[in-house]
Amino acid sequence: MLEKLTGKIQDALRTINGKATITEKNIEDAVEAIKMALLEADVNLRVVRRFVNSTIEEAKGERVLRSVDPGQQFIKIVHDKLVAFLGDAKQDLNLKGPDTQSVILMLGLQGSGKTTSSAKLALRLKKEGRKVLLVACDLIRPAAIEQLSVLGSQIGVPVYKEEGAKDPVKVYKGALETARKNLYDTIIVDTTGRLQIDQEMMTELVRLRDAAKPDELLLVADAMTGQSAVDIAKAFDEQIGLTGVILTKFDSDTRGGAALSLKTITGKPLKFVGVGEKPEDFEPFYPDRVASRILGMGDIVSLVEKAQQVVNQEEAAALQKKMLSEDFTLQDWLDQLRAVKKMGSLQSMLEMLPGMAGQISEEDLNKADMKTQEAIICSMTKKERENYLIIGPSRRARIARGSGTSVAEVARLLKKFEKMRTMMKKMAKLGKNPKAAQAMM
Ligand code: GDP
Repeated sequence: MLEKLTGKIQDALRTINGKATITEKNIEDAVEAIKMALLEADVNLRVVRRFVNSTIEEAKGERVLRSVDPGQQFIKIVHDKLVAFLGDAKQDLNLKGPDTQSVILMLGLQGSGKTTSSAKLALRLKKEGRKVLLVACDLIRPAAIEQLSVLGSQIGVPVYKEEGAKDPVKVYKGALETARKNLYDTIIVDTTGRLQIDQEMMTELVRLRDAAKPDELLLVADAMTGQSAVDIAKAFDEQIGLTGVILTKFDSDTRGGAALSLKTITGKPLKFVGVGEKPEDFEPFYPDRVASRILGMGDIVSLVEKAQQVVNQEEAAALQKKMLSEDFTLQDWLDQLRAVKKMGSLQSMLEMLPGMAGQISEEDLNKADMKTQEAIICSMTKKERENYLIIGPSRRARIARGSGTSVAEVARLLKKFEKMRTMMKKMAKLGKNPKAAQAMM
């Protein structure tokens, strides 16, 4: 997810981070490097210009240049700007209560992932306790009805369809009647898409909108198409009116332009992202978490949420507290490694750790390597795990022997651990403790 952008921005920040003093020139150079990274990521030029101007203006202020840790201050400014471009706070769906039907229209071009996303959203709302009915109103794409039926049975959500139907409004009305009779509280309508925007499609969608009076009009757009996803959103919004956007294929090597430009250019929030082909691969979009990830501050909150699915809630909360505190130890890391191992999907988990994004090599992803790390920590005494600073050359040699590894491997692990701790401390200061962040100003 946004790997290239993340890598480039982190390189730019590295030139400034940790410096005791920075000059206006340092700031200009870093902003220039970030600007290039954003343009390469296909972010809209207007958005990039706005970012550059406001960041430079703010970063050159006295508060940054004279602060105790100007590099950190600068990163905080970049972070806040990114959050603003990504849409500030997470945007929820505006649905009615269970005593009446809420209607969601899913709009988008063919191939954008509309049908898949309809099922993904249905599964999500079902898990939240809603009683969902999917409606097959894409009467143009030959396989759409069948595809929705298959997905529906996979996720255990009924699909309303009318074989051979020609008029989506008629199908919708039939679905509404079924929903009322069977007390479904949420109707998700998969509508017709075309390969390109055309008037016939828009006219049909306007009719459907007027008949359904939906609570949500969600555009499904393919993140891989970069800026054209933003243009498509603009066109749909002008003709139909949108309440939000779902960006699909966010798992592929998207350059990120769409996510970063969408809110500023269209004013419409990004509500969800699709992160894979399976019905579960769907996440709400949290601007602050994504910004933290891009800046290499990690996404501890998401990590902990995932952890909560396998570890018990109390353990996860304790782990989160530990990760952001001074006394994160090798033992905690070992616990974390084991939790991660249990959770599967290594790459996405590791990327959420501070300082890990963009630094994950094939080797890191190798389960064997995790096993080595586990072996090394297991060969340490309790004291060593609690305080890694006491691990001198002779202890390293003993640990290497005990774990069947080499002194170099032990040293590498310790270095990595130290780096993680540093990142966590920084993140704790900036993100989790606004008072500390203010104190630094
Ligand atoms: P529609 O024509 O808009 O209804 O598009 P589909 O729902 O049929 O999706 C088109 C293709 O994109 C399918 O092969 C989906 O599996 C795939 N797809 C949809 N969403 C995602 C996503 O978030 N990630 C990935 N990797 N593939 C997706």
